Amino acid sequence: MQFIHTPEEMRAWSDACRSGSLTVGFVPTMGFLHDGHISLMKLLRPQVDRLVVSIFVNPLQFGPDEDLDRYPRDPEGDAEICRRAGVDALLIPHSPEDFYPSGFSTSVSVHGLTDVLCGASRPGHFDGVTTVVARLFGVVGPTLAAFGEKDWQQLVVVRRMVEDLAIPVRLVPGPIVRDADGLALSSRNKYLSSDQRQRALSLSRALFEMQALERAGEQDVSALVQRGRAILDVDRLDYLEVVDALTLRPLSRVDRPARALVAAFVGTTRLIDNIPLGPEVTWQ
Ligand code: AMP
Repeated sequence: MQFIHTPEEMRAWSDACRSGSLTVGFVPTMGFLHDGHISLMKLLRPQVDRLVVSIFVNPLQFGPDEDLDRYPRDPEGDAEICRRAGVDALLIPHSPEDFYPSGFSTSVSVHGLTDVLCGASRPGHFDGVTTVVARLFGVVGPTLAAFGEKDWQQLVVVRRMVEDLAIPVRLVPGPIVRDADGLALSSRNKYLSSDQRQRALSLSRALFEMQALERAGEQDVSALVQRGRAILDVDRLDYLEVVDALTLRPLSRVDRPARALVAAFVGTTRLIDNIPLGPEVTWQ
């Protein structure tokens, strides 16, 4: 596995792949890798000739009071995980200055989809995401790129950007990987004490319960949300909503592909999770 620290080296590596007509798969991450990240690598590995993973804690997507400085890191453990997953190149910039060119002044914004849900409580977050993903796509030039459904809104926003800017990459969504008890894997789970982890489980429990109720025939969104809220045991609920899976607009009835999404604080840790409701979504 090749370690790559700069965009220039990355581009040269990818150019060499392309000139040999090799397809490139890409999994962008912020590191502290777990089975959710590994599932994306495994999803792409058989579909491409070369597999690239990036580990970059992107300051642009963190708000001033968020956990940028304490975001968990384990570059050596991460490298071992990537090696075992059959990754060919690990892009791991030493610093944001190594990744963004001096004088960097561009921002990529997707409108509409980004001012709801997480976008409403984390202003600027999705601009940070789309800006870094656009630059990563430019640097890596992947044929396929995998994104987890764990970050459903991010997946929908990146899909919009790829379509709007005609970026020549095919997005491959990966299902949410959970611990055996249902908790969605997240690098931020490391922050949780054992009592907090127990209460964090109420997010997935609430979503599974809403899904069971919907599958039993309940289409009324207020009834579904009421059931979910009764289960949540969190310190601060950011949102629990049922929205159209692709437009992210609020629904009053589950009469099309929908998603129930939750974001909540347990202690000072902000956790997110989501689950499908209604007919299966079809990505074009
Ligand atoms: P992150 O390192 O948190 O930025 O995540 C990098 C990629 O891994 C994103 O596409 C996430 O959606 C995906 N991911 C994170 N956690 C999970 C999970 N539990 N299951 C599936 N994908 C995940």
